[in-house]
Amino acid sequence: MEEQLIAVEGGCDCKAVRYRLLKSPMIVHCCHCRWCQRESGSAFALNAMVESEYVEDLGIAPELIDTPSASGAGQQIARCPYCKIAVWSHYAGAGSFIKFIRVGSLDQPDYFPPDVHIFTASKQPWVRLDADTPQFAEYYDREKVWSEESLQRRARLQEKIDTLNETV
Ligand SMILES: [Zn+2]
Ligand SMILES: [Zn+2]
Repeated sequence: MEEQLIAVEGGCDCKAVRYRLLKSPMIVHCCHCRWCQRESGSAFALNAMVESEYVEDLGIAPELIDTPSASGAGQQIARCPYCKIAVWSHYAGAGSFIKFIRVGSLDQPDYFPPDVHIFTASKQPWVRLDADTPQFAEYYDREKVWSEESLQRRARLQEKIDTLNETV
């Protein structure tokens, strides 16, 4: 099945870093963990998960900053080298193969509301969640939440990751 092609753009404040999404996210996470609260300075982080190959760089490459994460495995936050605004992160697991796009860095962030709320155990009490959106106290089982199409995209990506790991 052919997936829906889109062209949604985003970037940093000074416009040195610009990117275009060539596919809809596999999933959009709203993470209420303490780390996301601290790193965003807000109540949660909104991350749209897209294969890196479907994120086209239109400007200069962001710099990757090693940053701790709740899992202990760390993450890399991609920031504009000039204005330092963060545009996406890479996490352990799929690493550089997946970009967790910061939805607020899109020109039209309204396109991508959360598909799932995670780490709600540390959700700030004033944040009221839509009862129709799945919610998990911590993390969750991808197989039970993601659409069939997104699971297939993730499986294809895993094949690429495994192939690469076999050749090194
Ligand atoms: Zn910038
Ligand atoms: Zn988090």
